[in-house]
Amino acid sequence: MTTKQSAIHGGFDSIRKINLTACPICGNETYGVLVNGKDFEFHTGEYKVQRCNSCHVSYTNPAINEREIYKFYEDRNTPDFPNSTGIIHILRQWYLARNARNILANLPISKPIRIMDYGCGDGAYSLALSTINEYKVVAVDFHPSPPPLLANSIKEASNIEYKSYQSLNELEIFDVIFCRQVLEHIPNPRQLLSQLHNFLSISGFLIIEVPNIDSFWRKLLGKYYYTLYLPQHFYHFNASSLAHLVENEGFTVRKINKLHTPILPKSIQYLTGIKSENIGFIGLLTFPLTIVMDVFFSESTTLSIICQRNLLNNFHPNSD
Ligand SMILES: [Zn+2]
Repeated sequence: MTTKQSAIHGGFDSIRKINLTACPICGNETYGVLVNGKDFEFHTGEYKVQRCNSCHVSYTNPAINEREIYKFYEDRNTPDFPNSTGIIHILRQWYLARNARNILANLPISKPIRIMDYGCGDGAYSLALSTINEYKVVAVDFHPSPPPLLANSIKEASNIEYKSYQSLNELEIFDVIFCRQVLEHIPNPRQLLSQLHNFLSISGFLIIEVPNIDSFWRKLLGKYYYTLYLPQHFYHFNASSLAHLVENEGFTVRKINKLHTPILPKSIQYLTGIKSENIGFIGLLTFPLTIVMDVFFSESTTLSIICQRNLLNNFHPNSD
């Protein structure tokens, strides 16, 4: 029996869902249905992706009870933890380091800087960050111990450490926070943005990366589009709904980058029901096509938004 199967017997068949009658971000009750989707990973049922008519954020309905979310991640064996090896691992680390270097080189921050990688997952991006100019990097996630990929680096290098959300000191201050492929997994993104605002130095930078619901491939593949990732993704953003959200929570948008992710192998798996052991290589082979079609329609599979902390935090938990 695989770990995933044992986890299902541990409680996925009875997971609690909440039927939403209003947008969880702004409270508006009107929406359009973008996709009638389903859970292809844990088989917990069917879900709609609804776009709010007011704030234009799309959300998954029903939503998973937030106390049970940890069940999806505790074994670190989902696609959120790619665990790549060989040439795919080398190429991925090279790409992540290049991405991080490009972003950091264009931020008006003097050295040395402290960086938080919030929701570090398998630790690949934290590792890439730690190789640049020996910046001080704190990788953060909910597990009590670091991911295997980081364990050795933490022992050998003095500029990288791992902390669980619980062990993070509220008074720690960071110049840059990366929050990659996390915001869409969080039941209350407004609250998270408020917390990250408090962790940033004055005029510090927050870099958020999320899947793009307006990708050409989502429109073509519908419910088989991999990064809908139902029901772990509570939210589905496009460039304008993400910008609107962060601006409402005390940030100024400096730049939005359109990035590309090899989404086709898992999407094909969902569509055909055929699993492949060579997801990494299929992703590499189909990546040019993935990019070309999105560029043609001025879209992308992934959005990266660079925003700067305003002096005041706009978050008011009881305002709506
Ligand atoms: Zn809304």
